[in-house]
Amino acid sequence: MKLAVTIPDGVRRIIDTLGSNDFEAYLVGGCVRDGLLGRETNDWDITTNAKPDQVQGLFEKVILTGLQHGTVTVVLGDGHYEVTTYRIDVSYTDGRRPDEVQFTSALEDDLARRDFTVNAIAYDPRADRLCDPFGGQVDLRGRQIRAVGIPRDRLQEDGLRSFRAIRFACSLNFEIERTLSDALANTHESVKKVSIERIYIEVRKTLMSKQAGRGLTLLYESGLLSTGLPFLGPLKGSVVSRLAAVMDRIDTNWHSRFAAFIGLSDVKPDELCKALKVPNQIQMAVRKINSVLSWAVSQARPDICALLALVGRDYWRDGFALRSIIQSEDKPAIDAVVEIIEQNRLSNLPLYSRELAVSGHEIMDAVRIKPSKRVGLIMDTLLDSVWKGHVPNKKHELLVMSVAINSQMDAHT
Ligand code: ATP
Ligand code: MG
Repeated sequence: MKLAVTIPDGVRRIIDTLGSNDFEAYLVGGCVRDGLLGRETNDWDITTNAKPDQVQGLFEKVILTGLQHGTVTVVLGDGHYEVTTYRIDVSYTDGRRPDEVQFTSALEDDLARRDFTVNAIAYDPRADRLCDPFGGQVDLRGRQIRAVGIPRDRLQEDGLRSFRAIRFACSLNFEIERTLSDALANTHESVKKVSIERIYIEVRKTLMSKQAGRGLTLLYESGLLSTGLPFLGPLKGSVVSRLAAVMDRIDTNWHSRFAAFIGLSDVKPDELCKALKVPNQIQMAVRKINSVLSWAVSQARPDICALLALVGRDYWRDGFALRSIIQSEDKPAIDAVVEIIEQNRLSNLPLYSRELAVSGHEIMDAVRIKPSKRVGLIMDTLLDSVWKGHVPNKKHELLVMSVAINSQMDAHT
């Protein structure tokens, strides 16, 4: 097979520099796999027999944060490139991290520690030569995710690999080789030792793939979902399969897919977000999307505007789009609401009194009142009138209306 992508100049320069100093240097992992498949990649991992300090000595600017894994990040212009010394992973007592990194001088040893055959191919761009001791190209052609070595052993060493097998199968549209697939359900002890952050990353990549529904089904049926993310609580197969059937149609933004995913659980979304340590921004987006999912559908403009005020301008579309997919019985009503919003440009209206074309001070001047609760009440009434379409959001009109509202309030007190 041939790599069908252009290797960036920075990557070439690093490999040439290592090579002209009598070191071996190969591209490895995702970039070779994706390159052979003709897929775009932006993650260029380089592996070499040079030790980290030797790599460091050859380049002006390096970052040493990955040193415990034998990785040096070389900085060339805007690019950051990871250069990792050939290594073997010594033993796995905690089911996740190798206890110790041991360097090796043989590329094949380094490839042998890698998870799947398609991820264990190295490419030397100078000689235009592939090193593929585990039959990775055969599996790329046959579209198989196959473990390097004995599946059960490899998954027991590191529980994250079970999630990765499903993730690669779904993002590449590959099958999981039979013995590997059988082993997925039997590696729960090692899965329990994997950090939640790493599982979250793999689950996210799976659910963002083109085969998200398949991924969800595989994660559920293998039991990995309950073992890896126990705080989801008991999940119902019928609910999972209903979501799996529509998952691929949900917009490929993570907040929408994630909101749908955690909707499987009976646990409160906020609690789940905390347990899964999701970034605050996703947590906030999920909260807003959930407001749309649980909204009592109405075609009245003030009701719609009140929802927009709650959800904000960034997420209402995603919320409605998700709702019409996962609560398909509401689709006609939701489509009608979206049309009302668009035709009347409701999201351009002021959604909060601070967005009105008059300020509290201007109202106080016009109505001749002192700062008081009344000012806020007048503004709320103005906002409601704008939402109803009774007054445009224009200063003069709003001030005239303020005077009228104030007189009415006087009349009632
Ligand atoms: P992508 O970056 O497209 O998600 P990738 O294959 O580059 O895919 P990374 O997580 O970046 O995946 O890892 C780079 C390489 O390191 C993999 O291709 C694989 O060879 C190896 N690798 C990563 N994680 C593991 C693991 N848990 N066990 C064994 N090898 C691994
Ligand atoms: Mg990668």
